[in-house]
Amino acid sequence: MARRTENKHGSTADEFDLLAVIRQQLPSNTIPDSGVCVGIGDDCAVLQPAAGQKLVVSSDTLNAGVHFFPSDPPEAIGHKALAVNLSDLAACGATPRWASLNLSMPTADRHWLQRFMQAFLKLASTHNTRLIGGDTTAGALSISVTVMGFSPRPLLRSGAKDGDLLAVSGHIGSAAFALKHRHHPAGWALSRALQWPQPRLDISQAIAPFAHAAIDISDGLLADARHLCQASGLSAHIALEKIPVHPLVKQHDPHWPELVLAGGDDYQLLFTCASKDRHLLPADCQVIGHLQQSRQPPQVQVCHHGEPLHLPTDGFRHFS
Ligand SMILES: [Mg+2]
Repeated sequence: MARRTENKHGSTADEFDLLAVIRQQLPSNTIPDSGVCVGIGDDCAVLQPAAGQKLVVSSDTLNAGVHFFPSDPPEAIGHKALAVNLSDLAACGATPRWASLNLSMPTADRHWLQRFMQAFLKLASTHNTRLIGGDTTAGALSISVTVMGFSPRPLLRSGAKDGDLLAVSGHIGSAAFALKHRHHPAGWALSRALQWPQPRLDISQAIAPFAHAAIDISDGLLADARHLCQASGLSAHIALEKIPVHPLVKQHDPHWPELVLAGGDDYQLLFTCASKDRHLLPADCQVIGHLQQSRQPPQVQVCHHGEPLHLPTDGFRHFS
């Protein structure tokens, strides 16, 4: 339902104006083999799934004040809204194809929306992802994105095997460091990790043929390792000193292990593979531990140079 709203410049616009802003920015040339029979403009999108592939779907919502600061640049918010969703497809070893966008805005601010869409569509284009529909509505600033992709054999959290190596991509803890130290030059230096996370579809494609299980690190390394362990029914042993951490994080924060283990917002991949496949790991990945069966319920143990660490029970929890 279209509803009239007033923006901060005093002009009025409604849902149809906002949709026009979005449609103006959509690439005019159709991407060949996009699988889109009918895109934005009708009551429904009509999509043609690829033969022999499984459809992989994920959805995530970003709320102002919870997942980003309302004062963040609209480009960063637009990028992150899609990036965190593409990260879930990366975790499943899927190739992105389509996205839909539901946007709630307090005012019909065309300028904000233009800047938001520019970054959203730039990232979409980088990963051959077509925006196929969605909705705009008046309300608190909130962005909900659904992404769809394909994989012949989706990678799941539950696929880990006894004796698997546990590995991560990239650096861990940089986003949490940037958030905690956002008023310090060292924090600014790593702010891209927080505001412009890059979904690791490159890693995902490289490990899909041999990895057994994967998850993207959004809640924090420890919490997401626990999710993977619980789904696979195995326990993990992690060596803190093997986790790749940016030098600035270690230099500037004596509590860096907490940022690395519980910080979250990394959007790197945590995955498992057989030790015989260790030589297949991409250059940007590090083995940080292994998985094994245990008599107790699945748990994650972290040691620092052989000494067990006392760990908090959880990473970042929504609604806490
Ligand atoms: Mg995830």
